[in-house]
This record gives sequence, structure tokens and C-alpha cells, in this order.
Amino acid sequence: MKRIYLQKAKNQIARPNTIRDINKQIVLNYVRERAPISRAEIARETELQRSTVSAIVDELQTTGLIEEIGIGDSTGGRKPTLLRLKTGNPVAIGVDLDPRKTTIAVADLAGKVLEKEDFPTSHNAEFMSNQILEKIGKIISKYKDSELEVGISVPGIADQVNGKTLYIPYFQWHDWDICQQINEKLGIYATIDNDANAIAVAELWFGRESIRKVSNFITVLVSQGIGTGIVFEGQVYRGEKGAAGEFGHMIVGVEAPVPCSCGGNFCWESNASESAIIGRYEKSFMNNGHPLGSSVVTLPMIISLAEQGEKQAIDALRESAKFLGIGIANLIVGLSPQAVIISGNITKAWHIIKDEILSVAERGIIRDLPHPSIMASTLGDQPTLIGALSLVLARKFASATMS
Ligand SMILES: [Zn+2]
Repeated sequence: MKRIYLQKAKNQIARPNTIRDINKQIVLNYVRERAPISRAEIARETELQRSTVSAIVDELQTTGLIEEIGIGDSTGGRKPTLLRLKTGNPVAIGVDLDPRKTTIAVADLAGKVLEKEDFPTSHNAEFMSNQILEKIGKIISKYKDSELEVGISVPGIADQVNGKTLYIPYFQWHDWDICQQINEKLGIYATIDNDANAIAVAELWFGRESIRKVSNFITVLVSQGIGTGIVFEGQVYRGEKGAAGEFGHMIVGVEAPVPCSCGGNFCWESNASESAIIGRYEKSFMNNGHPLGSSVVTLPMIISLAEQGEKQAIDALRESAKFLGIGIANLIVGLSPQAVIISGNITKAWHIIKDEILSVAERGIIRDLPHPSIMASTLGDQPTLIGALSLVLARKFASATMS
């Protein structure tokens, strides 16, 4: 049951084409999730009239969203033509602003990356705006005939409604209005979101098969800090001005190995982030210089040493995993999701940390409450980039009238 808000009613009222719009999105999503699929199969599964499905498929083909891919096996009678999402056509530009590097990629409707480039992230907001505008400008001129939109993922609080960031702690940026600049200078639509929220959108639309049936879940992005994305009833809960999900700053533990980006010492991210793992690892060699000498220690290095059996590396990972599990237990107790999905470089050490996370989380959840599954993301090496692209792609598949 959802309350009807009169302020929003004008956009949600059922007009003569509302039913058609909903059916169109349903057919599009059948093609997205079940491809290769025939018109007859869609009609059978949706119980829509065969002629209605055919008319919608024609429209989706004309607008370049789906394509025919040849003939399927016959179950008696004429062999059906199979459908899938149109591939190879650029529709989305994703900008993944990571504290270390910024990636700009172009993808088709199925989320396949057609091209990408990255460059070091600067802490100068104006410089970054100019770089992003210039690179997107080049992409637009290269694909003149395509209707491109931009999705941007940032490691901070983003107000999606107004298209700007409120605050990015790593760079001390306030009110960065990149979407407005893209819109005014390049004439295309741009949307922005917090990186963990963008990952939540990506998991929702492009994540593992089992998540397709789940409508309430939490994503935990472990990077230099920790961000969370909360999905309620099939959509991301962003809170007032996009500030929801800042669980990275809930108090978990008292003697963190590194200070938090907020200045605190008790926060979840100062106990369980990549920085915390590195901090713990370095501290374990405090009195007798560590084997990596003066080189900068990174999480991939620690994971590789742990895989070779180095005790300090394994301990740093497992101790941080314990705190990750404690935080996750708190989220589960408070929000009762159906699943918790962890992403970030740390998932490469899943075989080393999984048992610790699961056992600590299990112990933290009251026995009679539901115990959801805790799993590693399947979005690949750069989930925040898939997140940025998903901000655009999800708009194509979601239904405005069904929200
Ligand atoms: Zn904090």
C-alpha cells in the first residue's frame, strides 16, 4: 500500500496511455531478462494479447531498444523470431569519480562497455569539471546520431533531484554542480548519485540472478571508506537530499587503526574499510620494518601476501572482516533486508574473509530474526563504473508510472 501524495498526483495520474506505457516496460523487461525470447513466449507469460505484444515489440524496435536475432526452435507450427536488447548502440556515458582515478565509459543498453578511458582524479573541482566536459564533448561528437545520457558516481553525498553533490569529503568539495554544467554546455541529460547508491542501482538491474527476485537489500561498498546503498521495494532509498546510507559513520568498535574521514575514531569505516586493513597491516610491523620497505602498501598487495600465507596479511584481513561483520549485523537487525551484497577490492579476498564475516554477522543477529544471505558482488572489477552507467540504463527499463 502506498499513500497517494497530491503534490505528485499530476505526474502519476492514469492517462489513456498509462496502461500502454506499463505494458511496454513489462515487455522490454521480458526481453532484458529472458532474451532470447519470442513474441509468443512473452504473450504466453504475460497473458497479454499476441497483437498487443507485437505492436509493442514493433515500437521498441523502431525506437532502437530491441532487435531480432534470428529464428528459434519451433514447438509446432511456424518457427518464432527471437528478440534481445539492441546491442552495440551507445546509449549511456558513465563517469566514475574515484578518489584515485576517474573513468569515463560508453555502454550499450545491455550495459556492455563499448569504450572507456581513465585519468588521475584531481582535487581541483573546476579542473575536474573541465576534464569531464571536454571528454564527454568528444564522445558526443563521435556518436552524433545517438541519444546519450550521462550517469555520474561520486564518493560523497549527492542530491539526485537537484543534480549536484552536497559534499565529497575526500576532496572537500561542496555543491559541485556538474550535472547542470553538462546540461547547459553540452545539451544532454546528466544524473548523479553516491557511489554505493549507484552500485545498488546496478545490483538491482544488472546483478546476480538471485537478486532479481529480491526487492529489499543492502549494498556495502568497501573502499577507502564504507558506503551503503539501501534498496526498499525495488528502489534505492536516498533520504533527504540523498544523505541516507551513511552507515560508514555508525559507531563500531573503539580502537580503530586509522582515523575516519569525518574526524571520528569509532566509525565503521575506520575499523573495516580498505584504509583500516592497510592501517592494521602496517601497525603489525610497527617495530620491525615491514617486508614491503618504503613502497606504498595497497589492498591488492595485502591480498596477494595473504594468499601466499603471510600471517600478518591474513590477520589484517580477518580482523577487518570481523568489524565488517559487526556493522553488517547492525544493518540487518535494524533494516531486515533479504540480502547484503559486499563490493569493492576486498571481495577479491572473499575466500579469506567470508567465514569471519558470516560467523560474526550470524552471532550478531538475534536468533529468531530472519538471517539474510551475505554475498560478494558479481559486478566485476569496477562496480562503481557499472553503477554510474546503471543510473542511465535503469531509466530506460524502469516505469515512471509504476513507482
Ligand atoms: Zn566517520
